[in-house]
Amino acid sequence: MAGGLYRWLADGSRGDPADGHVFACMLAHAWSEAEWPPAMALGLAPAELAAMAAEVFPHAVSLVAGLPGDGEEPQAIEEPDLRALMIEHGTRGAARERWLAHILARRSLGANHLWQDLGLAGRSDLSGLMKRHFAPLAIRNNRDMKWKKFFYRELCEREGVPICKAPSCDVCTDFSLCFGAEDGEPLARLSQIRRSPARKELLPCLN
Ligand code: SF4
Repeated sequence: MAGGLYRWLADGSRGDPADGHVFACMLAHAWSEAEWPPAMALGLAPAELAAMAAEVFPHAVSLVAGLPGDGEEPQAIEEPDLRALMIEHGTRGAARERWLAHILARRSLGANHLWQDLGLAGRSDLSGLMKRHFAPLAIRNNRDMKWKKFFYRELCEREGVPICKAPSCDVCTDFSLCFGAEDGEPLARLSQIRRSPARKELLPCLN
């Protein structure tokens, strides 16, 4: 279902195709999760999810209409700060940056690489999203730190809370934790394969 839903969403998306791809991956992945309703999985109030669908996936408005759940209710103490960090560094102050800020903050609470928990096909999707929609923040990640580590370091620096073990990354024993490769399999692919080994072809965003 996630792959078929992805294709249907992406094919009908409006605006920048790169945005259509990432929003379709995120929404299809959220739809496939059993733990939370999609609005909760994305950190969006149902009205915001409906507004996102109306702008990016006008053919899917009825799909998200009336979904339950107060997705904006914080699920962790740092979530509002993560959200605010993104919104403050939006490239244009556009509505889709606000939606992405909510989604990134919610999915940053996951246990995997952020690009995986977003349901994206690879880390480059996330890096591209950051450069397009949060350029002032992306430019500060000039050494290509792991994105989630980078967000949390930004928050800690703001609060004056020292988290770094060394004055310089080059001599820090945590270097590999902060800058190591964010490799791995897309979670959408893994969950789909677990669910239906014969239907790998339903994952067009991952092929
Ligand atoms: S590598 Fe060390 S000094 Fe650099 S950001 Fe990570 S914890 Fe801080």
